Amino acid sequence: MNEAELATYMLELRQEFPILKRTVHGKPLVYFDNGATVQKPEAVIESMNAYYRELNSNIHRGVHFLSGEATDAYEQAREKVRQFINARSSKEVIFVRGTTEGINLVANTFGRQLAAGDEVIVSMMEHHANIVPWQILRDQLGIVLKVAPVDEDGELDMAALNAMISAKTKLISVTHVSNALGTINPVKQIVDLAHLHEIPVLLDGAQAVPHLKVDVQELDCDFYAFSAHKMYGPTGIGVLYGKEALLESMPVWQGGGDMIDHVSFEKTTYAGLPHKFEAGTPAIAEGIGLGVACDWLMQADLAKVAAWEEILLNYATEQMQQIPGMRILGTAKHKAGVISFVIDGVHAQDIGVLIDQLGVAIRTGHHCAMPVLHHFGVDATARASFALYNTKEEVDIFIAALNRACDMLR
Ligand code: PLP
Repeated sequence: MNEAELATYMLELRQEFPILKRTVHGKPLVYFDNGATVQKPEAVIESMNAYYRELNSNIHRGVHFLSGEATDAYEQAREKVRQFINARSSKEVIFVRGTTEGINLVANTFGRQLAAGDEVIVSMMEHHANIVPWQILRDQLGIVLKVAPVDEDGELDMAALNAMISAKTKLISVTHVSNALGTINPVKQIVDLAHLHEIPVLLDGAQAVPHLKVDVQELDCDFYAFSAHKMYGPTGIGVLYGKEALLESMPVWQGGGDMIDHVSFEKTTYAGLPHKFEAGTPAIAEGIGLGVACDWLMQADLAKVAAWEEILLNYATEQMQQIPGMRILGTAKHKAGVISFVIDGVHAQDIGVLIDQLGVAIRTGHHCAMPVLHHFGVDATARASFALYNTKEEVDIFIAALNRACDMLR
């Protein structure tokens, strides 16, 4: 597809997002806060409504008709996720609340088996969700947390990462795509390097799954965590993918209903995968909504999505660079549609507030990635992040709004 065909195709998809028809402050909404959460297509919204209208029932336990139908719908959603990331088996798809819970699950199961002195390597550009769980383990178990540096473009320093690996390294846990810089990390290369030393790799896929085709078998990663709400699905649900043998070898985490096989006060045995890690009534409607989001994205075609978002990224970057005092953080060669920026003499928060008045929604602040922002010498940036439904015309509105804000603030 050429650019004009892509634009037409994305415009057709855009029609499926009811929220994009609304106005804010009397202006058409320009939603560039997609890194925080993306909007939902009608199909996802409707699937959750339909669940509550027609299927609502608790799953896995009931003998009655509705419970059977709800269970089937929920388990079919797991199968759709399996297809979406090309896992070998749906046993490898653990439903969690989101990326944060997925990483915490690994820290609290796989991580609990580590001993004082064992090492976990993360990168400088991690979201707090992939820093704090390991710090908690450091404080509780005495593990060592090593941090691979990034260069001035916001690219991971692979040589430094390589040099950090030791006989004590037990896990490498890095983000696939940085939410603060947009950097797409060379994750296949990281996995291959780690596996040379028989070290498992966890990838934080929160910002990758809405933009890139992810194939966990091809990547050969050991864990992959992501959130539905960043990939056109609902909040409150996400996925931890893990290789079956590894998940089998891990101890259970949360205890309760659904994750057991047999309970007595003397001894309890646990359910098999994936239920072993899914205690309590899950987010059923959300799981079904996630399944629909997977179908929707597979049909939309992530190769086309990536191509369109790259056009938006380049178009916006070129125009932003014309604004005096503009500094874009994150200039990696491989970058997703995220532009984090500061403007001399203007506070990021003020930019966000002013352009909101003009209908443009962006994020300002530390983006839950304080260490990498500090590394670049700032406490906060403004961040515009794109989704497939954004248009070049919206970029023009954003640029005009930025110029106006600068005029007012300087
Ligand atoms: N990791 C990255 C790279 C993210 O961008 C985010 C959310 O912004 C998270 C983890 C946490 O995701 P959630 O809040 O959905 O658990």
